Amino acid sequence: MKIIIANWKMNGSVNFARKFIREINQVDSQNLVIVCPPAALLDRFSNFRYYIGAQDCFYRKKGSFTGEHSPLLLKEMGCKYAIIGHSERRTNFNETDNIVFKKWKAAIRYGLVPIVCIGESLHDEGNWQGAISQQLKLFPKKLSNGTIFAYEPIGCIGTGVAMSLDRIRTVLEFVRGLLNDERVSLLYGGSVNSQNARQIIDKAGADGILIGKTSLNIQDFKKIILLGNSL
Ligand code: PEP
Repeated sequence: MKIIIANWKMNGSVNFARKFIREINQVDSQNLVIVCPPAALLDRFSNFRYYIGAQDCFYRKKGSFTGEHSPLLLKEMGCKYAIIGHSERRTNFNETDNIVFKKWKAAIRYGLVPIVCIGESLHDEGNWQGAISQQLKLFPKKLSNGTIFAYEPIGCIGTGVAMSLDRIRTVLEFVRGLLNDERVSLLYGGSVNSQNARQIIDKAGADGILIGKTSLNIQDFKKIILLGNSL
């Protein structure tokens, strides 16, 4: 069984969610499927057969933080998971490693399984080891809480070109070594589609995949979540 996460980002609509849920509910995947729609659509997913997650969560449970989403409320809305530290949040909303770590702690405290995104920027390509070590520095060695990490090299997100299988394998081994905890799941994300998903899962040693753009194509997403049935 592999972990397959859909990150809709700021896409979708009430109508699209209805259609997506209707069609995906008919697919019998043996994988752990998690869909992360925009927070404003979460309540439409009450009859969804798979898991739902948030695309982010704040590090406080309530208060005067206009526009933020409480981990406690996300949990109440039915989320089991929360993506944290996505590169788009790190880059566009100035999320530092420290903020990501605070969000990780809050997610755990309020009962969400964190999906932490890590990955080098194009600028750090030559020193991906340094960039990734820095992002993981604050995390404890033993993460006995089911944290999922997704390796998402920024240069591969939304470009249509995934990282090479060799490099994915090397990075995931490197991360495994740093975290030193067998129970952590390590995923790959960055231009995964219905053509390359199987290879990434089979050959790059990933415990699953995180999918952005392709998760909005219902037919392709169906193919991907079914892939696992024969893995
Ligand atoms: C992402 O943004 O997490 C992602 C993996 O996007 P895409 O699949 O579109 O590259």
